[in-house]
Amino acid sequence: MGVQPDQYFDDLYGNDSELERVKESIREAGMPDISVAPGYGRLLTLLITLTQARSVLEIGALGGYSGICLARGLPQDGKLVSLELRQEYADIARSNMVASKLESYVDYRVGDASVSLEKLMKEAARFDFFFIDADKENYPQYLEACIGLANKGAIIAADNTLLRGRTIDDNKQGPSVLAVRQFNRMIAQDPRLMGVHLPAYDGLALARVK
Ligand code: SAH
Ligand code: MG
Repeated sequence: MGVQPDQYFDDLYGNDSELERVKESIREAGMPDISVAPGYGRLLTLLITLTQARSVLEIGALGGYSGICLARGLPQDGKLVSLELRQEYADIARSNMVASKLESYVDYRVGDASVSLEKLMKEAARFDFFFIDADKENYPQYLEACIGLANKGAIIAADNTLLRGRTIDDNKQGPSVLAVRQFNRMIAQDPRLMGVHLPAYDGLALARVK
């Protein structure tokens, strides 16, 4: 048996020094190594570029890996709002955005995403593109909030829909697993959405808000 499919395709791409720097800063700070997979990072940039999204909302910043991928697809006047629970993570994400000369795009909002989403709702904010990648127990609520903040035709992407296999293991019934299963059903069945699930890496969901 040779390399696995994800690894085979990843190896075709050249070294991305900006994303490598993010990974290094995450290791140095002792943060969890849970940035979005490289192929999905490329997909985020591609989708933002081809949908010509101008306003993006990210839920869960960590070290800024996905933030860089999202901001790379934006036009000059594009905006990325990034919600992150932990101040120290938002600080590292911001410093990585600065190093990549993308800081002018991003507005970090530190605190519980549920509270930040409420505020955005009150501000009547609207977005063209969403990336959900924070605490898995709240995925259904985050999806509902994103639909509420979506411009017509907006795209919602969400990471880790397989939870490293727990999603499809009947013996697993913890709160994150139950929430992600509910989220996956919503992507597939909610009449407000046109959805698709990609099973590579740890799973990614995509949906268009009708
Ligand atoms: N999107 C990032 C990875 C995010 S990891 C990337 O691919 O580069 C998940 C992040 O969600 C962590 O940084 C964690 O601190 C944050 N998080 C967890 N619970 C949260 C909450 N309730 N509100 C906002 N952020 C939260
Ligand atoms: Mg993730």
